[in-house]
Amino acid sequence: MFKTEYAKNVYAELEKKNAGEKEFLQAAKEITESIEDYIAKNPKMQEQKILERFLEPERFVQFKVVWVDDKGQFQVNRGFRVQYNSAIGPYKGGLRLHPSVNASIIKFLGLEQVLKNSLTTLPMGGGKGGSDFDPKGKSDNEVMRFCQSFMTELYRHIGPDTDVPAGDIGVGGREIGYLFGQYKRIRDEFTGVLTGKGLTYGGSLARTQATGYGLCYYAQEALKALKNTSFEGKTVVISGSGNVAIYATEKATQLGAKVVALSDSNGYIYDKNGINLDVVKQIKEVERGRIKEYVNRVNGAEYHDGCRGIWTIKCDIAMPCATQNELNLDEVKTLVKNGCIAVCEGANMPTELEAAKYLIANKVIFTPAKASNAGGVATSGLEMSQNSLRLSWSFEEVDEKLHGIMVNIFNASYKEAVESGNPFDLLTGANVAGFKKVAEAMMAQAI
Ligand code: NDP
Repeated sequence: MFKTEYAKNVYAELEKKNAGEKEFLQAAKEITESIEDYIAKNPKMQEQKILERFLEPERFVQFKVVWVDDKGQFQVNRGFRVQYNSAIGPYKGGLRLHPSVNASIIKFLGLEQVLKNSLTTLPMGGGKGGSDFDPKGKSDNEVMRFCQSFMTELYRHIGPDTDVPAGDIGVGGREIGYLFGQYKRIRDEFTGVLTGKGLTYGGSLARTQATGYGLCYYAQEALKALKNTSFEGKTVVISGSGNVAIYATEKATQLGAKVVALSDSNGYIYDKNGINLDVVKQIKEVERGRIKEYVNRVNGAEYHDGCRGIWTIKCDIAMPCATQNELNLDEVKTLVKNGCIAVCEGANMPTELEAAKYLIANKVIFTPAKASNAGGVATSGLEMSQNSLRLSWSFEEVDEKLHGIMVNIFNASYKEAVESGNPFDLLTGANVAGFKKVAEAMMAQAI
């Protein structure tokens, strides 16, 4: 519910213009609700239509991606790139390859990315892209041909000072390699146009670990400030078993917690002794297999069909690290009833808005994705710095910088939460802290 007429009218107009774009409208509503008080205190912003200017993407590109599969058949997919906001730096944000990808999902991710990148304090604007191509079950050669065709269109829209894509769901080191190779071939230049690159050609140490590690660094600060506790001795449930989930499991375990569950879109595993991460890495990173395989290799572990049952497991900390809207109000209530003290978002917008509000109102720690998963893009920013400097930092140097950035992001969002009147409202805190800088830069540049 909006408190001001201004926010209400702007959102109504947005709803009309973007009818049916569920995820985009959900993200836009959440952000507008959080920042309307701040805008009301700054009448100049309203006079200058800052909300309308902020919510409208600078550019949205949709294109055809034609490729040939291993049977010699033509396949057609749809590619997207939204260049949302460049007020504080070149557009920056990942590419997602998943059959669910559409304009709404790309725009929601792009909008979130604007605030997330601002929170990192690094000079990066916000963008996002991807395709409805499904890498699951495709051969390496098929993925290569798709990536080459995708880049044959995307290259004209990006550049190291214009727009720097990275990975997201379905885009890891293999895909970034094929995309980078094709860009270099077309442009004949070796630049930091993509992040998440391999270590032999300009990638940064600790980028692979960054989102999951950063999530735990942020959660650690929240646990300390809001509940005067830590990961030590806590039971943790993490959804997903991709990049974010794996490295959140690794860091949470290093910090003294026991992670007992992981999932993929088919089901979840429960291991009361604590997940054996070496086994998971072998299945997911090396063999690109399904999480179900874990129970054939680890005694005493259980597999359950259906990924949402994971939220019925009793835990102290829940970390949704798979995808958007994977945690709803009923599931959150079950978590809280079972004693959960913190829900820390690793995926983008995994918690439905009503569920997030319930947590905040009930003084359960809720760390919003745009703050707590910003470690990935922050380290991508560090990869860009290393590429520009033409040198590379050690794992420890990057990890230390990442840790410092996550502590700063927590402090910035916590400060705004306290000022909003509820220290548990890190959602408002993150939105306001991220928005302030972007809004000022937009007004200064009249964009
Ligand atoms: P990966 O592709 O490595 O892994 C995604 C995981 O989520 C897989 O286990 C996948 O299972 C599961 N998953 C995907 N879609 C669904 C779905 N519809 N329902 C249930 N499970 C699903 O992606 P990442 O780990 O990189 O990304 C996970 C989340 O984190 C995304 O929201 C992404 O935007 C966000 N994120 C990632 C960053 C990064 O650095 N990688 C940075 C910031 C945010 P399955 O194999 O069955 O599809």
